Amino acid sequence: MKQSTIAIIGAGYVGAAIAHTLVLRNLASAIMLVDIDKKKCQGEVDDLSDTLFFSNTSFIKQEELTMARHADIIIIAAGIAQKPGQTRLDLFTTNKKIISSIINGLKPINPEAIIIIVTNPVDPLTGLAQELSDLPRNQVFGSGTFLDTQRLCNFLSSTLQVGRSAISAYVLGEHGDSQFVPWSIAHINGTPLSRFEQLTPVVLDNIASQTKHKAYDIIACKGATAFGVAACVATYCQAIIFDQRVVLPMSYYYEPFKVCLSIPVVLAKQGVSKILMPSLTDQELEALHHSAAIIKQYNA
Ligand code: NAD
Repeated sequence: MKQSTIAIIGAGYVGAAIAHTLVLRNLASAIMLVDIDKKKCQGEVDDLSDTLFFSNTSFIKQEELTMARHADIIIIAAGIAQKPGQTRLDLFTTNKKIISSIINGLKPINPEAIIIIVTNPVDPLTGLAQELSDLPRNQVFGSGTFLDTQRLCNFLSSTLQVGRSAISAYVLGEHGDSQFVPWSIAHINGTPLSRFEQLTPVVLDNIASQTKHKAYDIIACKGATAFGVAACVATYCQAIIFDQRVVLPMSYYYEPFKVCLSIPVVLAKQGVSKILMPSLTDQELEALHHSAAIIKQYNA
């Protein structure tokens, strides 16, 4: 395996949790952290360095954007986060300025780098990063509904008392309030959901609603969410570093709608290698259109 250097821009709750997950999963030979709050960033670097003994990661350092531009993978988790009651889209105006200044500060970016946008609202900001970065589109994507998809699978797993690995289901569309679950393509180890008596329409609606509201519930309790998205981002990095070609949901440009929104794609060492759009019912397609229309209002 080639050595992998990963830069994380934004060393807040999310950036620090991503760094911690990468170190413990041995996914980077070196990690750079960049933040405008240099004191906090140094604190995170020093705290994280205490975990290096348990990892194959050799270095973790505070750096500037001018060094981060050379990384193999650049993860952007800088910007303001939701306060209780705020939607992700409420963060757009402020975070658009922050993401623009970061991408411009990173230029010229390593032409082979992969950029992963985590900052919310992740869908329009992924579109912005694709436009500004000068990298091919397939090298720039956002963390999208991978996290919501994991939440959905966990709820299905506990409802059915079936292990998560047997569950195949997605949340698609906006990583936000217009997200939806295409139930027609969900199955448990090949068995359609309609064969499970306890999964009545009311139960399915409840599961989709709990999935959508979980971030709000966590933010109301502790002010931020970080561990789940960190695990998702580390899984993207693993797919890239090991050229795994796994199918994962992420925010990516979907030509028919001309916006970035979450769809299943194949992720490999060069980034997104193909979109694997499933066959959706008319109602599900309508829900995807609805998400696209909302995200489009925030296009740069
Ligand atoms: P936070 O406030 O803890 O951290 C944000 C960090 O960004 C701060 O340390 C701040 O100093 C830094 N920052 C701001 N402007 C910067 C700049 N120009 N350059 C470098 N650093 C800068 O917030 P958080 O809880 O870590 O959340 C970060 C972002 O991640 C938010 O937008 C949040 O909504 C988003 N988020 C996304 C997901 C997802 O699934 N995509 C999940 C959770 C959080």
